[in-house]
Amino acid sequence: MQLRTDVLVIGSGPAGLTAALSAAEHGCQVVVASSGAGTLAISSGCIDLLGQYQQQEISDPWEAMTKLPPTHPYSLLGCERVAKALQSFQAILARRKSDYFVAQKDGKNVNSRLPTILGTLKPSYLIPQSLDSSRLFSAKKVLVAGVEGLRDLSPKLCAHELALLPEFAETTFATTLFPSPLSQTHRGVSSLDLARRVASAEGKSWLTTCLGRFANAYDVILVPPILGIKASGQLVSELRQMLHCHVEELLTIPPGVGGIRLRETLIDEAREQKIRFLENVRINKACVSGQHCEYVAAVEDEEENLRLYAKNIVLATGGILGGGLFTTPDQVQEELFNLPVPPVQGQMCNASDVLAAHPISQTGLSVDRSLRPVDVHENMLLDNVFLAGRSIGGYDPADEKSGFGVAIATGWYAGVMAANAAGMEASA
Ligand SMILES: Cc1cc2nc3c(=O)[nH]c(=O)nc-3n(C[C@H](O)[C@H](O)[C@H](O)COP(=O)(O)OP(=O)(O)OC[C@H]3O[C@@H](n4cnc5c(N)ncnc54)[C@H](O)[C@@H]3O)c2cc1C
Repeated sequence: MQLRTDVLVIGSGPAGLTAALSAAEHGCQVVVASSGAGTLAISSGCIDLLGQYQQQEISDPWEAMTKLPPTHPYSLLGCERVAKALQSFQAILARRKSDYFVAQKDGKNVNSRLPTILGTLKPSYLIPQSLDSSRLFSAKKVLVAGVEGLRDLSPKLCAHELALLPEFAETTFATTLFPSPLSQTHRGVSSLDLARRVASAEGKSWLTTCLGRFANAYDVILVPPILGIKASGQLVSELRQMLHCHVEELLTIPPGVGGIRLRETLIDEAREQKIRFLENVRINKACVSGQHCEYVAAVEDEEENLRLYAKNIVLATGGILGGGLFTTPDQVQEELFNLPVPPVQGQMCNASDVLAAHPISQTGLSVDRSLRPVDVHENMLLDNVFLAGRSIGGYDPADEKSGFGVAIATGWYAGVMAANAAGMEASA
């Protein structure tokens, strides 16, 4: 099969989906080819913009952004473009009636601090209503509620760890296990199973009854991410109003219920924008002449199954986890175009502190200000390929808490650049 399009986006993680929506918004015909769902499906769905600077948690990400090194993706774009990208993303969420918001303090947009199942607090910026933690810090009595059979959350462990934090010196924590709404024969229960159940009338009634038994006695009830499968925030608002109690989800491990809700929202919007999806397609051949990519293809058993011609390509294939970069014992390589990845600084696989910044997390491709790939001398390598997301180097999303923030900012801008190069006169 052969296809032609204005813009081809390779990858459907947050960077790829944002790039596709941005190029479509600027009038391009867009195709997204992707081998899998990307990290959205294993994430909480909250947008980390910049939660830590120099290993210290920060409240105002915009202030810290101005201090980042010039090679950081945010510095390449500039704060104004990052803000535009987020505004555009928030406009999409609002159009799809997804209730995301940013916390305010002293008239500024700031990070929220979100409780996790391990009883820690994580900073994040643009968050769904179900994660609104604003009441938690002034609550006197908090209940941590798990569900029988759900092994991801130990309410006792979570409550014990939260109670040790100075923020909660005046707070009393209690725990409970709700009876499972699933039958005894159900395989190992995940939050996603429960969220799907809660999306049904019976499941909602089960949850309302369980919460109702405790609502009068607690200011906040923390639950795993089981409040349905839609990002609309309608269910959580209903529960809070009905029970007069602040019900709030905890951040947890995969499967990422919140990320799946967000992914569905973005895909619904993309379908409405007539973006075409080619799923389960691994693009593994690129035909390049000079600095121009003529076409890319999916080859299996030496047979070319699919050939895609695009005026411009957004490469949003993720990092090592996403499949865009792969590692050998002593180096990192880019999969599709064999683009040069700068060597990892320091020892590649070892770092003295397992939880601190790690050299390999910073690794990725170098780009110019248009997000085109460049070599070590900053010479542009491909004139119609723009990079977005985790395959770009110069930042450490785990340490900085900037994963989806960089993905959305670079995705949006790569979409604008690709549209411009396709002759659409997009502005950014
Ligand atoms: C467990 C986990 C949870 C996280 N949770 C959060 C969170 O809640 N908030 C946050 O801000 N950050 C979070 N992050 C960080 C964040 O996931 C990454 O920084 C971000 O997802 C990168 O997005 P991306 O679109 O660049 O890559 P990815 O999401 O990895 O997407 C890559 C895409 O490219 C496709 N692909 C790769 N190679 C090919 C190919 N050759 N052909 C076709 N398709 C290809 C993949 O199938 C996939 O669709 C989390 C990270 C992890 C590991």
